[in-house]
Amino acid sequence: MTVVTAALMFAEERWERRHAFALQGGRILGTGPPGELAERFPDHDREDWGDVAVVPGCVNAHAHSFQALLRGYGDDLSFMAWRDRVLYPFSERLDREGIRTGALFDFAEMARHGITSVVDFFYLHDRGNENDLAVIDAAREVGLRIVLARSMYDWSGAPRRYQETPDEAVRNGRALHEAVKGDRSAFVQPAPHSIHGASPEMIHAGAALAGELGVPFHVHVAEGRYERELSLESHGLSPVRFLDSLGALTPRAVLVHCVWVDPDDLDLIAERGASVVHNPGANSFLGDGIAPVREMLARGIPVALGTDGGCTNSRQSVFEEMRMAALLAKAVDANAEALSAEDALIAGTRRGGEILGLPVGRIAEDHAADLVVLDLEALSLQPAATAPKQIVYAMQPEAIARVYVGGEVVAGRGRATRVDPAEIRAKVAEVTKEWEPPA
Ligand SMILES: [Zn+2]
Repeated sequence: MTVVTAALMFAEERWERRHAFALQGGRILGTGPPGELAERFPDHDREDWGDVAVVPGCVNAHAHSFQALLRGYGDDLSFMAWRDRVLYPFSERLDREGIRTGALFDFAEMARHGITSVVDFFYLHDRGNENDLAVIDAAREVGLRIVLARSMYDWSGAPRRYQETPDEAVRNGRALHEAVKGDRSAFVQPAPHSIHGASPEMIHAGAALAGELGVPFHVHVAEGRYERELSLESHGLSPVRFLDSLGALTPRAVLVHCVWVDPDDLDLIAERGASVVHNPGANSFLGDGIAPVREMLARGIPVALGTDGGCTNSRQSVFEEMRMAALLAKAVDANAEALSAEDALIAGTRRGGEILGLPVGRIAEDHAADLVVLDLEALSLQPAATAPKQIVYAMQPEAIARVYVGGEVVAGRGRATRVDPAEIRAKVAEVTKEWEPPA
């Protein structure tokens, strides 16, 4: 066992100077002032990490890893144009090796930016689980913890390889869940795509499978204005109310986006105990609008952060999302108190762990030692006395000294350490060599 001391620490959601945590087998056994921990754990090694800040590893609660390969191919297009001209046609061209390359590329980017757990909302199934397992393998190779949110898609307008019948989707989801059972760094959760990508029967099946497996389920909700309009037109209900009418608005529901929601929708989400993943970078990038985060938090709705796909953001950093979340909340409300740096930091760490039902995102007893070590000598964290605020508002990636998952280093000094960036660059070049960039 080791007691680790650092100059600054975000332990149990409080900023502490000269603080320590006890570490054993990739888990945190306790936190406290160094002297107190030395008494509590008398037989231990000591490590002093020096002039650094230690914060929990970021939880990226929504991503689509293969989309990193499409970065730049559909920028500055509307969502519909992006989907039909870029996402659908390009995702048809990826074989399993391409999917794996996309995941390695995306996860390596995430690791170096301090992401330690990622939800990959994945839909290129080809009616089986081999592609899904390739993505999980890529996460293992980079060293990230992964929740494979196995998409359930039966809208016939999407590429054939996304589609399954509800029966197939349930069978495959169950089998994939079984395949990673007992693994503490890979998890499977159902993900009925959205009210436009999944039929009511499919959404029902996803919610039921989540209940059977005892896990959350993920669903895109009210991302763009069109979705709300379409739902009102075809069902006479907002997307949130439509989900509720299907019995799918439950404490297991992880609602991704919730940009186009009204106060009644928010009251209902709070009443039903569902959670939200806020993706401020991607929502801005696609011109979808901005989710009313302050109103969500005021109602006690748990809100985590996501980067969304690598081509709709286009950075893969939850620290960046924290900054975006806080700035946009302030801008929309014309109120600088709308969202604080601490609220944003908690959304990007602890809340993600809670929403996913995993012991991650906190420096606290019985949590995984998934950590980001920040160099307090970095200029972007000066003046030293205000570093806690600068981590959200001013920090640049050069301050990220090391990233740990389960107590093991996965990134340091600007790169993922278990994979070779040159090799990934070569693979990305190979996969995309015949893709024409937009004029
Ligand atoms: Zn998404």
